[in-house]
Amino acid sequence: MIEDYALHEGLSKIRIVLIETSHPGNIGGVARAMKNMGLSNLVLVNPKEFPSIVASQRASSAGDVLDGARVVATLDEAVAGAKVVIGASARLRKVAWPQLNVRETAELALTTVDDGEVALVFGREDSGLSNAEMDKCHYLAHIPTNPVYSSLNLSAAVQVFAYECLMATEIQSVHSKGYTSDLATADQLEGFYEHLFQALQDIKFLDPAKNARFMRRMRRLFNRTRLDVKEVDILRGILTAAQKQANRDQ
Ligand code: SAH
Repeated sequence: MIEDYALHEGLSKIRIVLIETSHPGNIGGVARAMKNMGLSNLVLVNPKEFPSIVASQRASSAGDVLDGARVVATLDEAVAGAKVVIGASARLRKVAWPQLNVRETAELALTTVDDGEVALVFGREDSGLSNAEMDKCHYLAHIPTNPVYSSLNLSAAVQVFAYECLMATEIQSVHSKGYTSDLATADQLEGFYEHLFQALQDIKFLDPAKNARFMRRMRRLFNRTRLDVKEVDILRGILTAAQKQANRDQ
């Protein structure tokens, strides 16, 4: 019996980010999929048509999720403040971002929400997420499918993620909390990666022309460790010291 079923409050910290959605019907379908599973936090990056009657119709009784949706111009704005950013992709890519299936994604999300928000980023209907957008994500998340047809409709993909998040709330209630540290946010991590990129050039370790994929590897390494705020401070302190020394040596 689930009459008295109370939703886990962490579900409100799971932010669904849709990038440049072309069909307003899909936005409505996403809102409905979210509300059905107890999610409410929707961010739209440059939607082609929004607000839209078609979206509202498809949302059915989830109009409140659409009304509360935030519309922004860039992915950076959409993920600002999030502690973990996860890109959903129908394709497994050659350059390896740390990869999770949808169930692992939901578990990670639910162990993070005590500490802050989690952003799940979904791509365009025709072309998904670009590599540059995936670079802003700490993990790539995939729904296992028929190998010859892996691309789900956008709102169907959100439905599967949202369902797994709801299921993970039950699992989480029997486990103890995983994280007590104050995880760094997406924008703090972005600041660290820019600093690292600059410092590695200043100390003549990195020639950007010859190392296009190097920073992607560095992101992969650090994102896997889930840096907290203090650790980012320490690492940036080390970078600054190395830069000063390199300056003196010149
Ligand atoms: N043709 C696009 C897929 C677009 S589907 C491509 O090849 O990338 C729209 C969005 O739904 C995707 O960007 C992704 O965020 C999500 N999606 C669709 N199928 C998925 C799957 N199997 N696993 C994870 N996300 C998926």
